[in-house]
Amino acid sequence: MLRGVGPKNAERLARLGIASVQDLLFHLPIRYQDRTRVVPIGSLRPGDQAVIQGEVELADVRYGRRRSLLVRLADGSGSIMLRFFYFSAAQHANMSRGAWLRCFGEVRNGPVSYELVHPEVQRVAEDEPAEVEQALTPIYPTTEGMHQLTWRDLTGHALALLAEGGLQELLPDAVLAKHDMPPLAEAVRLLHRPPPDQSRLLLSGGGHPAQRRLAFEELLAHQLSLRVLRRRQRRRGAPSLAGDGLLQQALLASLPFQLTGAQQRVLEQLRRDLMQPHPALRLVQGDVGSGKTVVAALAALCCVEAGHQAALMAPTELLAEQHLQNFATWLGPLGVELGWLSGRQKGRRRAGTLGRLAGGGIQVVVGTHALFQDDVVFERLGLVIVDEQHRFGVHQRLALREKGVAGQVPHQLVMTATPIPRTLAMTAYADLDLSLIDELPPGRTPVSTVVIKDSRRDQVVERVAMACRDGRQAYWVCTLIEESVALQCQAAEDTAAALAEALDGLRVGLVHGRLRAADKEAVMWAFKTGQIDLLVATTVVEVGVDVPNASLMVIENAERLGLSQLHQLRGRVGRGAQQSHCVLMYHPPLGSVAQERLGVMRETNDGFEIAQRDLEIRGPGEVLGTRQTGEMQFRVADLLRDQELVPRVQGLAERLLADHPDCVAPLIRRWVGDRVQYADV
Ligand code: ADP
Ligand code: MG
Repeated sequence: MLRGVGPKNAERLARLGIASVQDLLFHLPIRYQDRTRVVPIGSLRPGDQAVIQGEVELADVRYGRRRSLLVRLADGSGSIMLRFFYFSAAQHANMSRGAWLRCFGEVRNGPVSYELVHPEVQRVAEDEPAEVEQALTPIYPTTEGMHQLTWRDLTGHALALLAEGGLQELLPDAVLAKHDMPPLAEAVRLLHRPPPDQSRLLLSGGGHPAQRRLAFEELLAHQLSLRVLRRRQRRRGAPSLAGDGLLQQALLASLPFQLTGAQQRVLEQLRRDLMQPHPALRLVQGDVGSGKTVVAALAALCCVEAGHQAALMAPTELLAEQHLQNFATWLGPLGVELGWLSGRQKGRRRAGTLGRLAGGGIQVVVGTHALFQDDVVFERLGLVIVDEQHRFGVHQRLALREKGVAGQVPHQLVMTATPIPRTLAMTAYADLDLSLIDELPPGRTPVSTVVIKDSRRDQVVERVAMACRDGRQAYWVCTLIEESVALQCQAAEDTAAALAEALDGLRVGLVHGRLRAADKEAVMWAFKTGQIDLLVATTVVEVGVDVPNASLMVIENAERLGLSQLHQLRGRVGRGAQQSHCVLMYHPPLGSVAQERLGVMRETNDGFEIAQRDLEIRGPGEVLGTRQTGEMQFRVADLLRDQELVPRVQGLAERLLADHPDCVAPLIRRWVGDRVQYADV
């Protein structure tokens, strides 16, 4: 496709994912140099990159720490030093006193004056105005062995092809006019060869209208791809789940609390979804402690009332067990048949569960990834609920959909306690409907957070002792210092032993990933029922664990954890009415990012705000956990920088699907290609 590119360069381009002229045109410069005018030497500031021209006043070889050639160049407005550590005799001669030179380089502070170190140098005649560049000089992101001149050459050819109509405009004129966007070809040309009057500041910040034009189209294409996926899914059938509501009423009557307004609203949305004869796909976001579990239970009952089976899946055994306990307490008395399926279950018990799932004996099953396995067959699966979704990949999301019967797909509800900033959610989960539980149950007091050096550990231990003697409970989380799980668990064991000794008379328990499931469960149960005062744990307690009487959370080496993880851990306390505290211990010195993170934790308890700050600190790939998978990687768009384009893109995607369906497929092909799996589900 790219003619005139040798095999070596073709291979290098391939490394950057460039295979066609279009790929090349979308490979945009990361920054620009201004070689379009000669700048007076007197106006230079450190950091400037500029073309200057002047007369050599002095050219000397110095023998200091390193031999160097120093050349003083003056133009009437001022003078500057050129410094060379490597030079030939011919170069030296070329820069003799009285010669006129034109140079390009970056200005630095030198020992006596500003300097250009190893600038590009060209000899010119005093009175002859040498040619300058007509456009800003693009600097491309590159790979080993590809020089900027090669890039300029290649993009030059590509732009020539563009002039012959190489890049089709896919957005309708009316859309461009409405959003005040330049045509694509114009934007691409400008970005590769910006005229001198364009703001380099705007360009290097990515906020230039031409850059936004491309980012807009890319985000739009991505949005369209997910919406097409969603439309396809919705076209399939799902059981319409409308029951008499009696089981739900019975559960509501038995709860010791009333649903919050937010819980009620989301429940209504779910009920409406489930009544449709097409599969619902909904993401419920709710901050830690907002009460998602009971909403899930009510949705499951809705399914059971209509005579179908519901499955609830959690990312860890510990969480799944906890859900099972909750469901047993809530649904057991209503006569609902519960089942349990985890990876550890083997042999006869597993066979028994599978039999009862296939025969319809189990109405609600709770479990882990084990629910996905091929040999798990349901009689009438109507609803799949996935808790703490950020740990499941999209593919797993798809796999459970295939467990429906007779060409039907179960409804799907995804719950996450890791709030995702709105614009990010709108992009990453455009194939899902979004619900928000944006209210905490009444009577919760915000957790107060302190950040403390680990040298004050004794005081922290004292604090734990006081809280526990007051009848409250505490967590002590040992974080990953060691890379190996075995060593982490060892560290947690040592910490537990040391704390048990320091806290004479208090009951100290320990959970970590290496305990057998039954032991883990026993410890958690003991903690939940108040038989343990202090629970020492690895980050296995990160998500979902619910012990309202626990009011103190100590996190060791908090500087090593990300914001969302810290927020999840802290969310284990503040679940009861009493004031809760979180102590973030760190080991100095604290890097600036870690300092910022701990500062955010101290300032706010709001998961959405924390998520937004996390996005700013770590970027979208990390926040969504997709950095490795490449699932959310864009060529031009930057989800952080281009956030405010997202709502516009979302509205436009709907309109294009309705009014200009013909441009949808080409847009997706251009920007998304086959990166999004169109598993035809
Ligand atoms: P999360 O959203 O983090 O999963 P949970 O479902 O674990 O939260 O709920 C946290 C705690 O709040 C549980 O003890 C639960 O029983 C309780 N809870 C849920 N809804 C309410 C409510 N409306 N009023 C009071 N407590 C509630
Ligand atoms: Mg939960």
